[in-house]
Amino acid sequence: MTESDSTTAPAHFILSRIRAEVEAGQCDRVITRFPPEPNGYLHIGHAKSIVLNFSVAAAFGGYTNLRFDDTNPAREEQRFIDSIREDVRWLGYAWEHERYASDYFETLYEYALHLIDHGLAYVDGQDADTIRAQRGTLTEAGVDSPDRDRPAAENRDLFERMRAGEFPDGAYVLRAKIDMASPNINLRDPVLYRIRRQHHHRTGDEWLIYPTYDFAHGQSDAIEHITHSLCTMEFEDHRPLYDWLIEHLPVPSRPVQIEFAKLNIDFTVLSKRRLTRLVGEGHVAGWDDPRMPTLAGLRRRGFTPASVRNFCNEIGVTKSEGIIPYGVLERQLRDDLNARAPRRMAVLRPLRVVLTNFPDGETEWFEAANHPQDPGMGTRRVPITREIVIEQDDFREEAPRKFFRLKPGGEVRLRNAFIIRCDEVVKDAAGEVIELRCSLDPDSRTGGPRADRKVKGTIHWVSAEHAVPAEVRLYDRLFNVPHPAGDRERDFIEHLNPDSLQILDGVRVEPALAEAAAGDFFQFERLGYFVPDRDSRPGGPVFNRAVTLRDTWAKLEKELAAG
Ligand code: ATP
Ligand code: MG
Repeated sequence: MTESDSTTAPAHFILSRIRAEVEAGQCDRVITRFPPEPNGYLHIGHAKSIVLNFSVAAAFGGYTNLRFDDTNPAREEQRFIDSIREDVRWLGYAWEHERYASDYFETLYEYALHLIDHGLAYVDGQDADTIRAQRGTLTEAGVDSPDRDRPAAENRDLFERMRAGEFPDGAYVLRAKIDMASPNINLRDPVLYRIRRQHHHRTGDEWLIYPTYDFAHGQSDAIEHITHSLCTMEFEDHRPLYDWLIEHLPVPSRPVQIEFAKLNIDFTVLSKRRLTRLVGEGHVAGWDDPRMPTLAGLRRRGFTPASVRNFCNEIGVTKSEGIIPYGVLERQLRDDLNARAPRRMAVLRPLRVVLTNFPDGETEWFEAANHPQDPGMGTRRVPITREIVIEQDDFREEAPRKFFRLKPGGEVRLRNAFIIRCDEVVKDAAGEVIELRCSLDPDSRTGGPRADRKVKGTIHWVSAEHAVPAEVRLYDRLFNVPHPAGDRERDFIEHLNPDSLQILDGVRVEPALAEAAAGDFFQFERLGYFVPDRDSRPGGPVFNRAVTLRDTWAKLEKELAAG
């Protein structure tokens, strides 16, 4: 069982553009980076960026760095760094160098001095609100700061004293001196450094001033000799600023920035700010709650790295944003697991069935294939006894004509075993069905003279005596509207689906599942794909349903559309 990518990196505009550069001899070695801010867990949108960065570099024999853009100490934590590392590795990628923007704080400081000495940056003593108000609008030019023409020597002195801790937070900022009338607001003397007495998770209390993301990002790329800085569309308007900085600084290389559209998926939210809120307010059980679109959540839910990579390749890379149906991601998982998942039998909502002509106290063992199309996956032994359980749903007393499961007087095949007929329905005082009494056709058993006798339905079952009790967690969409964050009238929290988690605790699974361990995955026949959850205990397995066998949402939506 090796996982495989059904699609290799597909052609897209970034790949073609870089290929042209390589062929024209403009680029010897393609070096990319994945640059997360360590202020949350990675989500499926980040996977798109990871797959893109690693596959593009690999396509040209280059490499990719993992660089933590840790310029905002207030929100960054070591556990986020650990989770990001784990997620990138899980996706199947190995980075060349692990770097941190904070590795470059000293160099960035030198770069700031360089701008100051060349009259390209100044220290501004106005407060943040005033500076913001002076930025102007899309239609109105900005207003020059009274500090804009401060002499270079004075700027240098003030900046050095900012670093030395002579001023309180917010007393001064360092700004680039570009153009307050630029049609691009990012070029209206953007802030490069702020005074912030904050403990940094790596540099500790060494720094009292921190570079802004805009000042750190492009220079960090240049220091690492990144050839192609791939980023999402919202940075398109920042590119002129990054280019300006690169042009005016003594950086060792000149990265080219190329933007692509962010991934959006329906029925969920993909923004760290919103995901942080879901976790912080307790709407989910944590960053790795299996309903979360985080890579940790998807992994715990049962998604495989190949399914996520294949999804990223399938959706492609463009400059225009769209919203991908959640079902596309689920289909990739089904395609991956259908080929590789061992089959097992589990009964989610048990109904007792007594096989009246099966000897009491005996056990018969059937050799059951682990995969119907792949004999290489072997077989396992499945026990049957006089008492078994079947799904409550697989029996109907008042059954419509096309109900091909069990009904009074009807026959059905027990998967891997034999055909049974329902002779009697036993009810309790309240009229609830509590037991079925059935007789089996011994000749119809696997290996018997009439093993191929056809009946319309086949159902799964588990021996009551050998069954292992288990808990199963069924998941549904986290939100009940396609675009929870797109509703201006209401808070996205109001669109949470109250039925996104269903816990079934009376489940019975076949004995082979007693030893299921982390990393295993199974198809529970007729029910979907399941993985053991880390909440499993010896003798008390817990399974998550990763995905159903069919896309019930697509069907529902079609029905809704048809009215
Ligand atoms: P969020 O919007 O979720 O807060 P972010 O952009 O602030 O994400 P970063 O840690 O800065 O998160 O992201 C690291 C990289 O992942 C960046 O290059 C960013 O452009 C990219 N990225 C983030 N979200 C998506 C997405 N939805 N689709 C594709 N790439 C994304
Ligand atoms: Mg960001």
